[in-house]
Amino acid sequence: MTVIPEVPDKLPFAGTTIFTTMSALAAETGAVNLGQGFPDFPMSAALSDLVADAMRAQYNQYAPMAGWLPLREAIATKIELLYGCRPDPVTDITVTPGGTYAIYTALTTLLQPGDEVIVFEPAYDSYVPNIIVNGARPVLIPLTGEFRIPWSEVERQVTSRTRAIVINSPHNPTGSVLHPDDIEALTALIHKHPLFIISDEVYEHLVFDGIPHLSLLRYPALRERAFVCFSFGKTYHCTGWKIGYAVAPEKMTTPFRKIHQYNCFSCHTPVQVALAQYLETRDAYLQLGAFMQQKRDYFISLLQSSRFDLLPSSGSYFVCARYNKISELDDAAFATWLTRRHGVATIPLSAFYQQKTDSGLIRFCFAKKESTLEKAARQLCAV
Ligand code: GLN
Repeated sequence: MTVIPEVPDKLPFAGTTIFTTMSALAAETGAVNLGQGFPDFPMSAALSDLVADAMRAQYNQYAPMAGWLPLREAIATKIELLYGCRPDPVTDITVTPGGTYAIYTALTTLLQPGDEVIVFEPAYDSYVPNIIVNGARPVLIPLTGEFRIPWSEVERQVTSRTRAIVINSPHNPTGSVLHPDDIEALTALIHKHPLFIISDEVYEHLVFDGIPHLSLLRYPALRERAFVCFSFGKTYHCTGWKIGYAVAPEKMTTPFRKIHQYNCFSCHTPVQVALAQYLETRDAYLQLGAFMQQKRDYFISLLQSSRFDLLPSSGSYFVCARYNKISELDDAAFATWLTRRHGVATIPLSAFYQQKTDSGLIRFCFAKKESTLEKAARQLCAV
C-alpha cells in the first residue's frame, strides 16, 4: 500500500492575506478599493518605454545574481545623494524581487531555530510568518501613543536569544515615522546588545510635511549591522513589478546572497536595465513626497464632513481612521460591512496583529487618482 505523506503546514495560523481578501471583495462588489496599497494612476511612460527598449535591445537573459551592475551603481549614487554614505555597489547592494523578498531573505540569513526577533505591532503582515518559517520566535511589542516605539519595553524584552529587531519607517499600516530620539534609542540598544536590524524602508520617499526620512543608512553605527530594504514599486508607481533591493555591509551581504542565489537567483533583466537609466531622473523620486502629500491632504479634506476620525499620517500610502461614531462592529466585520454596504474597501488593522487584536481602526490607501478619492469620499461621507 502506498502511503501518501502528509503535507506539513509550516504556517498553521495563516490563511489568505487580508490584501488578497479585500481586493477580491472589492472586485466582487464593485467597491472602490482603498484597501491593498497600490496606485491606480499610470506609472511613468518614459520608464515603461525604457523597459521596452531594453527588451528590444536583447537584454533578455539572466542578469548577474546580485543585480545589473549599472543599476547597483545608480542605487549607490542615489543613497549617497540622500543619506550621505555610498554603499559599495559590488559588495553591499543586492537587487531583489521586491522589498518583501529582501526582508524574508534578510531574516532567513540571520535566523536559527530558537532565535527571537523583536517586532512591533501593528506590523506589516509578512514579518511574523517570515520569522516563524525560520523556526524563530517573534517577540511582539505594541507601538504606543501615536504608534511610537516604547524603547524601555524593548530593553525589557531583549534576551540572550534576541537576534534581530525589525524597524519600519514610514510605517505600514499607520504612517508613523521614526524621530531622532528613536534613532538615539536604537543606537543605545545596539551598543548594549549584539542585535541585527532589519529596516523596512520601502516608503522612503513618501514622507510628508518636510520631515526628513531617517534612513538607517545615515548612521554608521546602525548601518554596520542593518539590512535596509527598499522597493522600486513604491517609488515608481509599479507595485506589480516586484523589484527592490537590500543594502548591508559586505559581511552581511555575502551570506544574504547565498540564500538569494538558490532562491530567485537574479531579477528581471530589462527592468533593471531601464531602472539604471531612469534613476538619473532625480526629480522622479525627489518630488514623490510632495506628490503623495497632496493626495493625503486632499483625501483628509474630502473626509472632513464624514463621521470617520482620521489619525495623523506622516508618511507611506496610508492613513488610519477610527469609526466608533459609526459602528460598534469589530474592525474586520466593519471593513466587510463598509465594502458591501457603502462600496469602499479598506484594511482592518487587526490584520496587522498576530492575535488579530481589534483596534477599532481601518486603514485607507490614498495613493489613488483624484476621481477615485472623490468617489470613495462621497460614499464615506454618506456613512
Ligand atoms: N504592501 C501592500 C499593502 O500593505 C500589500 C502587498 C500585498 O498585497 N502583499 O497594502
